[in-house]
Amino acid sequence: MSVFTHPDFDDHEQVVFCHDKASGLKAIIAIHDTRLGPALGGCRMYPYASDADALRDVLRLARGMTYKSALAELPLGGGKAVIVGDPHRDKTPALFHAMGDFVDSLGGRYVTAADSGTGVPEMQLMAQRTHHVCGAIARDALEGGTRSGDPSPSTAYGVFLGLREAVHHRLGRDDLAGVRVAIQGVGHVGYDLARHLVNAGAEVCVSDVHAPNVQRAADELGARVVAPEDIYGQAVEVFAPCAMGGILNPDTLEALRAPVVAGAANNQLASPEIGAELQRRGCLYAPDYAINAGGIIDVCYERIGGSAAQIRAHVERIGPTLQQIFQRAEAEGVPTSVIADRLARERLATRAPAHA
Ligand code: NAD
Repeated sequence: MSVFTHPDFDDHEQVVFCHDKASGLKAIIAIHDTRLGPALGGCRMYPYASDADALRDVLRLARGMTYKSALAELPLGGGKAVIVGDPHRDKTPALFHAMGDFVDSLGGRYVTAADSGTGVPEMQLMAQRTHHVCGAIARDALEGGTRSGDPSPSTAYGVFLGLREAVHHRLGRDDLAGVRVAIQGVGHVGYDLARHLVNAGAEVCVSDVHAPNVQRAADELGARVVAPEDIYGQAVEVFAPCAMGGILNPDTLEALRAPVVAGAANNQLASPEIGAELQRRGCLYAPDYAINAGGIIDVCYERIGGSAAQIRAHVERIGPTLQQIFQRAEAEGVPTSVIADRLARERLATRAPAHA
């Protein structure tokens, strides 16, 4: 298993293979770029079928974090960690203590946070061994209880603003009154997005594989519920993926009727070519890591310190960033996904120290 010649190797600064025999920890930490600041990115726990799968995932995710933070103009680099293991079976305090030791050994070049398969309890275990952890404190204790404790509300607010920008650009609408939106997944982010949309007068339909979640959206927000397999084909103006990645693929594109895709899910494009296909079909795609940056903005301010008002103001910059992406994509005739990457690289190059 090579690293330097790996197809997903993108000049990553450091890749650390972590093994602790006593706890059974097997993990990889990838630091992609620290020119703008410490590499902040979540620690994922997943039962990878092979070490190669874990390496591929961590290399890609780490690079994605560099782009996401650079585009959001945060003083952060990009990194990620993956633990090979089943989060429902293999979690022990010793495992996360060992992981905390490895994170600490990097001296702050990598800062960890929760990701799929990990949460506040695991961050608290790691925080017993290292300071380089975000999300280890119950944040409802912050600011006299005015902050919620997880970054999802900031993510949802940013997605709402980005979605509004996309509707304005593609459909020429100044508000969302009567605009129909299909939300896939009404978990932490999707539900909060639905709430913003309903408050703005949009008509919302939702799907979720977890029945209580759709029920809550129906009961509390009056959302129309559709079966998970029917969400793509809804006659709506906006499709908002807020569940899992890879959902924009040749099969779903055949069913998709919405002229706008704007949602929170990470890695929505199953492959880069899908971005061009969406453009060809006249569908405006709000690049995932541009529109869903509210969460990393929130986490960043937890680290560097800042008020709820500062966080909100920073999240509100997501709208203008998307506007820039949409306008450039149109002017240059290239997919929005390509422009987002270019803009992220430009912001990285402009803000990186000259000696780097
Ligand atoms: P979550 O787990 O709270 O919610 C996801 C929801 O999707 C769940 O209700 C789940 O039942 C549902 N779901 C799963 N498979 C589905 C399917 N096939 N069809 C319909 N629904 C399905 O997660 P979340 O925190 O709300 O995050 C949602 C997405 O946004 C994820 O892709 C996540 O990576 C991304 N994201 C989240 C944040 C954040 O701050 N939470 C930040 C950036 C990106």
